[in-house]
This record gives sequence, C-alpha cells and structure tokens, in this order.
Amino acid sequence: MFRRLTSQSVNTPSCPAGNRWLLAATLSVMLLGGAGGYLWGANKVMQQADERAAELAQQWDPAVSAFFSRYTLLPRALELLPRIRNIPTSDTPASANPFLNDLAGRFELDALYVIRPSGTTAASSNESFVGENYAFRPYFQNAMNGQVSTYVALGSTSGKAGYYVAGPIRKDGQIVGVIAIKIRSSSIGELLRQLGEDEAHGVDWALSDEHGVIFAASRDDWLHRSRHPLSAATLAQLRNERRYPNTRPTVMPAAYRSDREDGAHSLFMHLNDHIGMSSAPISGTDWRITFYTSIRNPTLAWAYAAIGGLIALAIALIGAMFVFREMARSQMLRTAVRDPLTDLFTRLYMKEAIPPLVAMHDRHPDQGFTLVMLDIDHFKRVNDGYGHIAGDRVLAHVGAIIREQIRAGDIPVRYGGEELAVFLPGEGLAEAQQCAERIRQAVEKATIRSGHSVLNVTISGGIAAHRKGESLSALVERADHELYCAKEAGRNRVCAEGMTGQEPI
Ligand code: GH3
Ligand code: MG
Ligand code: MG
Repeated sequence: MFRRLTSQSVNTPSCPAGNRWLLAATLSVMLLGGAGGYLWGANKVMQQADERAAELAQQWDPAVSAFFSRYTLLPRALELLPRIRNIPTSDTPASANPFLNDLAGRFELDALYVIRPSGTTAASSNESFVGENYAFRPYFQNAMNGQVSTYVALGSTSGKAGYYVAGPIRKDGQIVGVIAIKIRSSSIGELLRQLGEDEAHGVDWALSDEHGVIFAASRDDWLHRSRHPLSAATLAQLRNERRYPNTRPTVMPAAYRSDREDGAHSLFMHLNDHIGMSSAPISGTDWRITFYTSIRNPTLAWAYAAIGGLIALAIALIGAMFVFREMARSQMLRTAVRDPLTDLFTRLYMKEAIPPLVAMHDRHPDQGFTLVMLDIDHFKRVNDGYGHIAGDRVLAHVGAIIREQIRAGDIPVRYGGEELAVFLPGEGLAEAQQCAERIRQAVEKATIRSGHSVLNVTISGGIAAHRKGESLSALVERADHELYCAKEAGRNRVCAEGMTGQEPI
C-alpha cells in the first residue's frame, strides 16, 4: 500500500519536464529555420552565380562575335577577286602561292588556300598544303554546297586547335572551288585571354564546337572534353573528320570543384543542372561560349542560415512565452483549488463549493449531508521528533489515504494544518462513520517512510450531519466538537453526534 500511495501522493508541478520539452521544441524549430535559411541562401548564391554567368555571356558575345565575323566575311570578299576565281581552273601554284602568301600576311592569317572540287589543294600561302586532299573536312563540303562555315580542328602537324573559315568560289554561277582560311590561333587566344583578364575574374570559360566539344578554355584540362555526352554517330563523325586526332572527347564531370590559387574562393560547378553556368551562341558561328562562375560568397548561405535560425528562434520564443504563461495560469488555478502537499481541495475551494451543497440539502433534508473532520494525533511530536519534512510526508500520505478511501462525489478538503475534512453529500451519519472508520484504519496500518525513519501515525475523527437551515461554520463547529470528544476519549477513534467516542476496533 505504501508504494502505491507514494505514487499518488503530492501533486508536484510538471515544470522541469515541460522545460525540457520546450527546449527541445525551440531547438528543433531553430534547426528547421536554420536549414530552411541555408537552402534559401544556397539557392540565392547559385542564382547569383547564374546571373553573373549570363551577364558575362552577354558582355563577351559582341567581342567574340566581332572577331569571328571579321573572318566569316573574308571568303565572300576574296571570292570577288578575279585572280582568286582563276586559281582552281587556270593558275599554277608557282604563281598563285606568292599571291596567297601576300594576302595572308595582310590579313594576319595562318594560311590561305584554294581547294579544287575534288578536295585537292590547288594553291596555298603555306606550300606544304598544296596537293593535300581536304575532301573529308566538313568546311570543304559545306562550301561546295554554297555555304560559308566555320570549323575547328586540331592541326595534323602542330596538334594545336586550328580555326577554319571556308566559302565557295563561283564562276559564271558555277562553284569551281573553295577558298579556305586558317586563322592564327594565337590571335584568338590573345583575344580570349584579354577578355578573361578584363571581365571574368574568378570565372572559367569554354568555347565549344557544334557538338559541344570544348576547343578553347581557361583551363587546359577541359580541352577536347564535351559538355554533354556524345552519341556513337557523332564520335564516329569526329573520327572521320580527323578532328581531334589522338583525343577522344570525354564528358566533363557532372560536378566540378577546384580551389583557385589564391584560395579566396572555390569554384563549384554543376554542369548537369546548370548551376553557375551560362551558355550563349557566338553569333555568326555554330559555336557556343559557356561560363562557369564561381560561387564568390559561400558565407552568404550561412548568413541566411543564421537569419533563418534567428527568425525561427524568435518565433519559438514567442510561442514558448505563450505556453509558459498558459502553464503558469493553469498552475495558479490548480494551486487555488488543490492543496499541493496533500492534493486535497483547498479551504478556498471549500468556501466556493460547499455552500451550494448546504443550500441544496436545505431543500432536500431527507437526503443526508455529513461532514467528517479528521486530525492527525500528536502530529507535533512527528515534527519535533523527525523534522518538518517528515511531517510533510506524513501529511501527504494521509491525504493520499483519504483520496483512496472516499467515494466519487465525496469532497476531501485540507481544512488547515493537519486538520482534514471530508464532505459527504447524500450520505447519513452511519455511512459517514463507515467512511471515517475506513480512513482511520488505513492510516493506522500505513507505514510511512521518511529518509531512514519509519513512521506510524493515527488520526481522530468527528462527524456531524447537517441540519436544515444550519450554516457551514455551524456544521464545522459541531464536527469539530465531536473531534475534540474523540481526542478526549483517547485519540485514534471516530466520534459522531449522539454517540460517545468508541475504542478503536
Ligand atoms: P493532537 O493529537 O491534539 O491533534 O496533537 P497535535 O500535536 O497533532 O496538535 P497540535 O495542534 O498541537 O499540533 C499540530 C501541528 O501540526 C502544529 C503544526 O506545526 C503542525 N503542522 C500544521 N501544518 C503543517 C504542515 O503543513 N506541515 C508540517 N510538517 N506540520 C504542520
Ligand atoms: Mg493533531
Ligand atoms: Mg490540530
């Protein structure tokens, strides 16, 4: 019984557990807010990188396009020269080569050459080209179809990227040959290097051909890699054109990460999902320029995470404040109604709840309404002998026993100090006496532990039945009188009006 009673004893407020719960909830909300903020920030950083790439693509396009369009106009212009038109049909390399060499010098070209419809080079500024057959090159095939086209391939001897522009040579409406230009790669390199220095600090760029194969880039390890996977047919075509001999275009890694030399920032690229990447066509060619921008301010994401966390914390704190206020309110209400030590109703509650029951009994006097007053015997000795804490434990246990022994509808009250009362609406003296006796016996049997001490106490009880028209205080006074009688008769007993105190059974 003792153990069972302890678990039911004093009703302590559940604040410490509530605090832990609130702390956990606050931390979770903060973490969630932080994570949300981080995602938001990271998205902003990526957006920033993307915008920068798009901005650069826009800035570079005019310069790069102007560079190439200068050369794409050249075949049309040269075709107009009668001397050029005659080369495929009636000129000899001996006379045509110096002429082409002179023109190449004027336009700062690597080579200028004329190809016959068979694909064989008729004359060239660079004599080693003469007699070579270029029928396999797409620029030759396009020119024979009447189109001017650009082309990039690795030089068969130099191994370096060469840029070609070719167009048809027409005579009397017939295509009689092809005029081809090889642009000095150093001039393109110079242009791109300069643009990179001026406008693209911390940004990597790549020029890719019509298949997506990178032929010029700010990073050497990107050369001849393709921006996206190539089909088997494309790979076979590139091999037939002898475009990138000894290299087989491999796909760029999906996410590319590199730390720049200065260590100030790291480059983080996602080629597949286009983060920090912008690609634009180069006007006048079928090539593209792609920028891979660095995330210049990765701490931004963390700043957003902190802001998100703080906002979440503020929300959590406001929420916690409301919960605490509500808890404090309900705690206050509870302590006003329930005595925290015994978990019996308070005297304050009694003053509110009992008078209506007294009035009800006045209207139905035949139903019975009794009061049992109980008082712990020699309680002062417990306090004096074992201390107030032991006294409190005894009180709490007696309170628990009372709650155990009464029935639903009975109202147990801590009347004051170690004086306890039970109101029994609807019950007469006999039932009240049985109830009081049950409580008395249970208390007598209980063994109450406090520290190393084992305590046994007894209680005395006095019972009075309400009389029609009687006030609550008068009823209490009469029950108190009976209690006094029980004490006088030797304690550990229950007295009711009209009987003398009986010896305990
Ligand atoms: P009696 O048998 O005549 O009732 O003797 P008693 O010692 O119980 O009576 P008395 O009225 O002399 O003493 C009651 C004591 O109860 C005095 C008071 O210090 C103690 N008391 C009242 N309330 C509390 C409480 O909440 N906790 C503790 N530990 N003691 C209390
Ligand atoms: Mg007492
Ligand atoms: Mg007393």
